[in-house]
Amino acid sequence: MAKKKKGPRQSAGLKCKACGAFGYITEYNKLNDQLKKQQDGKGTFPLQKYCSVCRVHTEHSMSKKLK
Ligand SMILES: [Zn+2]
Repeated sequence: MAKKKKGPRQSAGLKCKACGAFGYITEYNKLNDQLKKQQDGKGTFPLQKYCSVCRVHTEHSMSKKLK
């Protein structure tokens, strides 16, 4: 298991909203995410990403199962 990182950058798994397939592992800055939410009401997620199951770009939401 990967060592848990400290600091604002957090690992996140990305899951396709349309089919639920687990697609990506990414990192995001928790502080930037909070800032974005304050500014325009939207956070970093969902992201437009290519889903290899749907074979189109779909919205991907964060999956918290990642450790
Ligand atoms: Zn999909």
